[in-house]
Amino acid sequence: MPETVARVLHILLFIGATVILCVWQIELHQGVITPWDIWMEPLLAVIVGGTGLVMVRRPDLDARLRPIPVSAFNLYLIAALHLTLLESPGPEQWYQTLTTLYWVPLAYGCAFVFLTLPVALVVCSITASAIFVPMVLWWHQDQLPTWTWESGPLLVVIALSHAMYVLLLWAVVKLRDSHADASASAERMRTLAATDVLTGLPNRRSMLDTLHSTLDSSRRADLPLAIVLVDADHFKAVNDRHGHAVGDAVLIHLGALMRTHLRSSDTLARWGGEEFLICAPGTPQEAAREIAERVREAVASSPTPHGEPLTVSLGVAVCRDHDDVDSLLLRADRALYTAKSAGRDRVVLAAEQDLAAPGDTRTAPLFD
Ligand code: GH3
Ligand code: MG
Ligand code: MG
Repeated sequence: MPETVARVLHILLFIGATVILCVWQIELHQGVITPWDIWMEPLLAVIVGGTGLVMVRRPDLDARLRPIPVSAFNLYLIAALHLTLLESPGPEQWYQTLTTLYWVPLAYGCAFVFLTLPVALVVCSITASAIFVPMVLWWHQDQLPTWTWESGPLLVVIALSHAMYVLLLWAVVKLRDSHADASASAERMRTLAATDVLTGLPNRRSMLDTLHSTLDSSRRADLPLAIVLVDADHFKAVNDRHGHAVGDAVLIHLGALMRTHLRSSDTLARWGGEEFLICAPGTPQEAAREIAERVREAVASSPTPHGEPLTVSLGVAVCRDHDDVDSLLLRADRALYTAKSAGRDRVVLAAEQDLAAPGDTRTAPLFD
């Protein structure tokens, strides 16, 4: 996002420099250019385009360079207007004054695009005051001989329109900022809603979304998909002996440890209580067993926060043709149940267990 903003600003600066040079050429050829604009306009183009070039080469200087083209543009307009009023008393003064005045809203716009909101407001106020206050005073004191009676009201109307430009720009920036704040807080809320508070892992709700989308994409790509349900063994005893806070620390440890033994393409979520779920896309049965075995060994051999051995039981299920998320989960759950019944600290594959105990209603192959 910041790179996009920077790129847009660079493009604006390069287009700005080109437009200034075009204006310079047009005025030069039509003979309506003032003596100072012959060199001030190219100078302004060089400052604007040059700042763009430096910003491209040195992105680290971006924030410090931004005020340069804005100040140069605003100062140029103020200077051009005052020089016109002081140095060109003839009828061409109107052309010169108006050609300067209609560029001023663009200078306001640049201030709001390139600077922070408070700084932009200050810059716009200074520019508007430096332009309109002397003009109104001089007109009031009859120091502008070529100006007629309608020049005063015209100036006031132009000044009012400039105030409206600034107000509108302020409103647009305010709306943009509040929209950005709302998007950021919505994103924060989305992350919070998908994250388990204790372990920082994806929570059950988020994992269900992952399972549905991964099942769909695996099916479309004709790739295998495995899930592994992991349950800490005798976890109640950890709480009973060491207290709930230590139990929490063990769960955090368990989540972090398992995460380090999985591939980045695997998702590990806290499924609930002391249960975790691994979603391993692109994983056939044997590879899923290896992943589960790796996790089991890592847990059994790692030191724990409560200083006692900790083991996990794991149920593995690989997606079959007619599986949906519920049936896949149910088979992993059954495999886990078998692992628990068989003595814990082990991996059981849903398919194996279905074949091993066909008479057992909890292990019957319901979804084959
Ligand atoms: P098994 O080997 O059969 O899985 O035994 P178990 O003791 O692990 O299973 P059981 O279902 O009897 O107990 C689970 C325990 O996990 C009980 C519950 O207090 C604890 N538990 C669940 N969520 C949390 C948690 O967020 N923090 C802590 N400290 N304990 C939790
Ligand atoms: Mg459990
Ligand atoms: Mg348990």
